[in-house]
Amino acid sequence: RIFDVLATPLPGDPLPGVVVVLRDVSEVKRLEQMRQQFIANVSHELKTPLSSIKAYTETLLGGALKDPVHGQRFLERIDEQASRLHQLIMDMLSLARIESSQAPLELTNVPLARVVQRTVVDHERQAASKEVILENRFTDSAVMVRADEEALRQILNNLIDNAVKYTPAGGRVTVSGRVDDAVVLCEVTDTGPGIPAEHHSRLFERFYRVDKARSRELGGTGLGLAIVKHLTQAMGGSIEVSSQVGMGSTFTVRLPAANG
Ligand code: ADP
Repeated sequence: RIFDVLATPLPGDPLPGVVVVLRDVSEVKRLEQMRQQFIANVSHELKTPLSSIKAYTETLLGGALKDPVHGQRFLERIDEQASRLHQLIMDMLSLARIESSQAPLELTNVPLARVVQRTVVDHERQAASKEVILENRFTDSAVMVRADEEALRQILNNLIDNAVKYTPAGGRVTVSGRVDDAVVLCEVTDTGPGIPAEHHSRLFERFYRVDKARSRELGGTGLGLAIVKHLTQAMGGSIEVSSQVGMGSTFTVRLPAANG
């Protein structure tokens, strides 16, 4: 623990002495360190795509623009990096909004099957383009969760997006669900590379990645799971990962079942 010591001489005290006040500032220091770390991470994440954009632009201006093959390729790289910056800013805004409670969640009774169905459909092209089978095994239209529909859509979107992104061609992503008492579980399972156990507890931290290079190459921002965790907790639920290297991964969202 870290203490702040405030020592004050006692005025007019016939016996020389001081009053010593010990204040525990460990928490203040910890929060300050977290803030500095976050700023360092954000700066780094913004700098990487910007440096690429700058380098490609300079090469184009230096003459590559006249070469149609290189010109086209460099413009595509600039476009990719600009999309990455855009996604990063959107994810940071989402997190900031959730944390500041600017847009309070609106909890209603939501049919889980409808949200699952829509989110799966949104990812069909992404899955097909990399030859991953995306399967929806949850069709029970009677199951209702107590949730903010847009937040639930974002949670499922981030989990399915990761599952498809990290699963190589020929793999499979399955979305399933079940009710356990007053809790509704929704699972996104993939046959991808799996995640070593030592990373499980940190996966939901902002900018934490198992393989930085791979995540960047696939257009990841490192914020998807942090958003999932914040949103599930804000709705009174939880998120958990179960995974072994070489055996794929399952992310389980638990949310309160709708009342009534
Ligand atoms: P990113 O934008 O990098 O995907 P996330 O916060 O969504 O960031 O995920 C954090 C990290 O967790 C990823 O960089 C990746 O290493 C790992 N990860 C997430 N989902 C999966 C998955 N389905 N299979 C393997 N690794 C995953």
